[in-house]
Amino acid sequence: PIVKSMEVIEKPNVTYSDIGGLEEQIRELREVIELPLKKPELFRELGIEPPKGVLLYGPPGTGKTLLAKAVARESNATFIHVVASEFAQKFVGEGARIVREVFEMAKRKAPSIIFIDEIDAIGAKRLDIGTSGEREIQRTLMQLLAELDGFNPLDNVKIIAATNRIDILDPALLRPGRFDRIIEVPLPDFKGRIEIFNIYLKKMKTSEDINLELIAQLTEGFSGADIKNVCTEAGYIAIRSNRNKIMMEDLIEAIEKIKNKKKRMESNLE
Ligand code: ATP
Repeated sequence: PIVKSMEVIEKPNVTYSDIGGLEEQIRELREVIELPLKKPELFRELGIEPPKGVLLYGPPGTGKTLLAKAVARESNATFIHVVASEFAQKFVGEGARIVREVFEMAKRKAPSIIFIDEIDAIGAKRLDIGTSGEREIQRTLMQLLAELDGFNPLDNVKIIAATNRIDILDPALLRPGRFDRIIEVPLPDFKGRIEIFNIYLKKMKTSEDINLELIAQLTEGFSGADIKNVCTEAGYIAIRSNRNKIMMEDLIEAIEKIKNKKKRMESNLE
């Protein structure tokens, strides 16, 4: 790997049906990433340019990585996962070199999707670039912009970036020809929460008494990641009670537990 946290997956094991809610986001990604990768001639004939880069933004744990993996799989593209903070290196010029190498690899392994998580780590707007560390980050960002500008919208490499902090991004990233398609990935609504519970509970052994609507009501404000945690926690509670099935009471107890954990985390951030 070019950097230690880098992950290259030839065929991710996530499909659209593993994602609860987010129908609109999936539809849009299919249109602007999957279709151009699979049928570039369609776009060439019509004379329209798909975006080179798409930015996903929203709270943590809402399925941004999951979406990017699923689009890669369904586009038969190699999935290249990098965390932008890894681009910020100690030595001068190293961040830019890593960016260059990631793009070279993506071209070699095309069709491919580069997923850049936490893009704000290098893409936040900076008011002053006084220190050498800040200058280095700035150079890395310039290299990323140059790479984006350097390829064609119909090349078989696409970039998906993700952030929880769209408000602090440098507008240079969002200019036409760069990350010019912005897709919000919000917390799931009631229906989305039912779907996500369904996805995880259907893999588990559950009792008849489970009321999905009630648990979806009790989990307002939960992310997909929180819901997955609730299901796992309910499984542990069932095991501790020597049962081989998850019951409604286990889920309710697990919801309380995750709710308290979320509250503690929020108060730590304050
Ligand atoms: P972060 O901003 O923290 O990187 P993210 O938005 O990329 O988060 P994911 O890594 O995709 O979130 O999701 C975390 C975990 O939560 C996933 O492994 C997945 O199992 C679960 N999850 C999140 N959202 C959904 C969803 N909509 N449907 C099903 N599972 C979900």
